[in-house]
Amino acid sequence: MRKPSGLVFLFLFLPFMTLAYNLDGNRWPNGQATFHIDIPGTAPSGVSWNAGFEDALAQWSEETDFSFLINRSYRDPCEGFTPSATNMGFPDGFGDASNGADFAVDVCGNEFGLGVLAITLSIALPGNLGFALIDQTDILFNNAFDWDIYPGTRRSEIDFRRVALHELGHAIGLGHENGEVAMMAASIGDLDSLQPDDIAGANSLYGGPGDCEILSIGINSVVQDSLQQGDCSVLELYGGGQDSSFVDAYSFSLESETSLSIMMESSALDSVLLLTDNKLNGVDFDDNSAGKCDALIKGTFPAGDYLLLANTFVEPVTCPGNTGKYKISISDNTLPVLNRSRSLSGSTNNSIFHGGATSDGLNYKSSFLRSESINVSASIQPDPSHVGEGAAFYMLILLSSGEKLAKNADGKFILLDKLSNIPPFSVTNGLPSRQDIPILKNLKGEKFGISDLGVQIFLGYSLDSAPGEIYFNGNPISFSIN
Ligand SMILES: [Zn+2]
Repeated sequence: MRKPSGLVFLFLFLPFMTLAYNLDGNRWPNGQATFHIDIPGTAPSGVSWNAGFEDALAQWSEETDFSFLINRSYRDPCEGFTPSATNMGFPDGFGDASNGADFAVDVCGNEFGLGVLAITLSIALPGNLGFALIDQTDILFNNAFDWDIYPGTRRSEIDFRRVALHELGHAIGLGHENGEVAMMAASIGDLDSLQPDDIAGANSLYGGPGDCEILSIGINSVVQDSLQQGDCSVLELYGGGQDSSFVDAYSFSLESETSLSIMMESSALDSVLLLTDNKLNGVDFDDNSAGKCDALIKGTFPAGDYLLLANTFVEPVTCPGNTGKYKISISDNTLPVLNRSRSLSGSTNNSIFHGGATSDGLNYKSSFLRSESINVSASIQPDPSHVGEGAAFYMLILLSSGEKLAKNADGKFILLDKLSNIPPFSVTNGLPSRQDIPILKNLKGEKFGISDLGVQIFLGYSLDSAPGEIYFNGNPISFSIN
């Protein structure tokens, strides 16, 4: 990920000059755009201008991974633009946030320039993956030329359909290509349809992750890996842009709408998590919500195929590096995820802890009024290698007043003098893959005379085979009653 830097772009198509694909470094965020098209009249050949333009839209949609949607209503391509001081180049303004096309005598008051057939005006917003995100595009066809619609060999009248095809290539983020046979050649010729190079260019932007390795990741699992030399860069994964940071890509599928917590933890990386569809179109991202170097994506996502990208900043912001180890947990538990799962000995493990405090059963928060009724619950998903073993569960509550409390086997909270005396509150002969743990029900501060109290709750489990080693949530459930 890069720090973003508003951008405007302008492309020309020249008639009488004599084009592998070339990306201009921009991309539509979701692989699709809606064009408003309603140009009155027909070409001398009898084909309507609308039909010619829609043919060009359909070629890109049918032959590439980009989709143009059609809205058969007129939008002035110059709405929101005014002539610039020099009457040359890109007009002033940022348009009207819709995509239109029309014939015009000038470029929103600016000159077309000698021999320019058509101009695509694009507005892109700063992106954070090394490319700008295209937000709007408008196409102006130069009225100074005689236009028609026909296939094949170029004539003195200009074929509107092939010029539209070329400009739409700019509209989706392609630059000129002079080294291969392509509609994206800088000058018009006898070609009247998309060429393999044009299609490859579009698909490198919108067709998914190319040659980068994709590992699968399961829901309710943990992976530990690192970003390092030899990994794909964002630039390689997306097929363009300028982001050289390393990225690991994971795939997973949701059979139905699912609430997910996805946590990336690292002490070496400034973690960045990106969730995309299987074509790399953005769904969600986070670069800094859970902790100093961690990232957390939490939400409800529809059924479908997804890619999860573990990334970092080209220039680290809050953490030291842009290579190093990380851990990702992905869970469909609706409780907040508690990161930094730990063990007493410091060994690494792949357990996932969840827990939170709520007064309405929906929103988890960290500060309550004395009059609010507080419910606290948690769940433990043990390391998969521990499932089925004999185990004991522990609960430790630290109060800001200094007391330590533990829950005992009778379900009572007892004062603890030493942490090493902590009793288990439950034992099992076979650890399940998930253990739900209710902690507090309807606790009202005012009922117990509690005020200005901070509460931290840790949960843990140990295996009968190694009773001294307790696995617990490094970040506690934490809240205050005021
Ligand atoms: Zn061009």
